[in-house]
Amino acid sequence: MSAFTLLGSGGWIPTPRRETTCALLSLPQALFIFDAGTGLSLLLEEKFRRELEPEREIHIFLSHYHLDHVAGLVYLPAMLKGRRVHLHPPAADITGIDPGATVAELVRKPFNPTSLEEMPVDITVEPLGEGCHDIAGTQVRARKQIHADASAAWRVDDLIVFATDTAADLGTAVFAEDVRLLVHEAWIDGIEEEDPATEQIAREAYLAHTSARQAAGLAKDAHAGRLVMCHLSPVRSPAYHRQMLASARSIFPDTYIMEDGESLAL
Ligand SMILES: [Zn+2]
Ligand SMILES: [Zn+2]
Repeated sequence: MSAFTLLGSGGWIPTPRRETTCALLSLPQALFIFDAGTGLSLLLEEKFRRELEPEREIHIFLSHYHLDHVAGLVYLPAMLKGRRVHLHPPAADITGIDPGATVAELVRKPFNPTSLEEMPVDITVEPLGEGCHDIAGTQVRARKQIHADASAAWRVDDLIVFATDTAADLGTAVFAEDVRLLVHEAWIDGIEEEDPATEQIAREAYLAHTSARQAAGLAKDAHAGRLVMCHLSPVRSPAYHRQMLASARSIFPDTYIMEDGESLAL
């Protein structure tokens, strides 16, 4: 049995309700972690300790290097001291930049007491490019997405597609075809497009992000089993997020917003 847990459902700024992006896919043979935002801190909670059992491999997949997706890398010694961790940033064919050098820049003095290499966690940096990879006996695919700095979407078998920090992209629906769970960002509702007073908000958002309506359209086109919207905006109210959910459900009924720490079986 596999399970999906959203540890950080927000984007940009951590709030008391929503930490920044981090998700777990718990497989029998491995623990896959998608992004290392501040939500990674939830692994300190007792109820998630069992996810870190030593017999399973641990793989972290990064969508991109914006700080709300990587801030948690410096937390790793708190929960994984002495453990082996496979870190998979997107390769240069996706981002156009050197993944090893970029990760080393993120974790180094004077921003952190140690470099990535000196941390008491055995981290191996194993970048993954576009296409299909065998990771812990599982088929993992990467796809380049459109963002302010290019990002990667990840697909694991037919279980999950994790696509955050991306403009709406019809290719994502093909990438996510028949997947059980599409986890996709939703930064605004999308109703903004329809009003000249707010249309500019939508136009700016769509350069790098997706609306709830667009995410629901992608889930529908992909024939996904369900859609979880993530990377919610911290400057929007809970009422606005409820409106996003209603908008998305009018297009794709099996849409959900999860709270931090919530899990679902796959
Ligand atoms: Zn982000
Ligand atoms: Zn970003």
